[in-house]
Amino acid sequence: SDHSLTYPASPASMDWASYYPAFVAKNEESEYVATQPREDTLAVRKLSKAVEIADIGCGFGGLLFALAPRLPETLLVGMEIRTSVTEFVQEKIRAMRSQNVSRGEYQNVACLRANTMKFLPNFFTKSQLSKIFLCFPDPHFKTRKHKARIVSTTLNSEYAYVLKPGGIVYTITDVEDLHNWMVEHFVAHPSFERVGEEEQEKDVCVQVMRTETEEGKKVERNGGHKFVACFRRLEDPTWP
Ligand code: SAM
Repeated sequence: SDHSLTYPASPASMDWASYYPAFVAKNEESEYVATQPREDTLAVRKLSKAVEIADIGCGFGGLLFALAPRLPETLLVGMEIRTSVTEFVQEKIRAMRSQNVSRGEYQNVACLRANTMKFLPNFFTKSQLSKIFLCFPDPHFKTRKHKARIVSTTLNSEYAYVLKPGGIVYTITDVEDLHNWMVEHFVAHPSFERVGEEEQEKDVCVQVMRTETEEGKKVERNGGHKFVACFRRLEDPTWP
């Protein structure tokens, strides 16, 4: 159950600064913005840049820890529903930061507990993200459980809202039925087109997703197949 989960009332009231202290905007005083009229959340410190990459259902964070040093100027966030797993990733981020103080690595990565099937637009503004990763989502095999899948027409509209035009949703799974389901739902959605295979295979993020996620490693050990599909966020149509 996620009754204990809290959500920012809006992206502006999300306290990103406590997750990325190295990226807090200078001239802090002038950057303070009033948000909710509650004493405990009177002001939120702003970051010098916005979070751009979200790993939905990040698990133990393999993808995040592999991407963070490769994209040092980009802020990445993992979102995970399990409390203990979220805490594990947060603890590991603290450890990685303190082991890499001189190089300043891993300051650009954070993990927060959230049910991403709810309130995703409370965390991110329209067109904020450039990449969303859906790596080995829970398959929910039974037909009556399909509504629990993190790809659906409704959720794809939320991904489209928070992604900027040209942004990419990356998907990978070892379950062929789920792969087909994800392709079907994204291709049918007016805001997305599938990325061609040649472009997909040139993308370093695709390689990282195959080899660095915990599930990707497990499937490798078991000799399973990994199905990859990426989808580009299209421009919104302009009306004459
Ligand atoms: N992405 C990781 C990987 O590839 O190794 C973990 C994959 S694991 C099979 C699926 C993860 O999604 C689990 O850690 C699960 O707790 C998380 N999850 C499932 N539903 C979620 C939701 N609605 N919001 C956030 N996380 C969710």
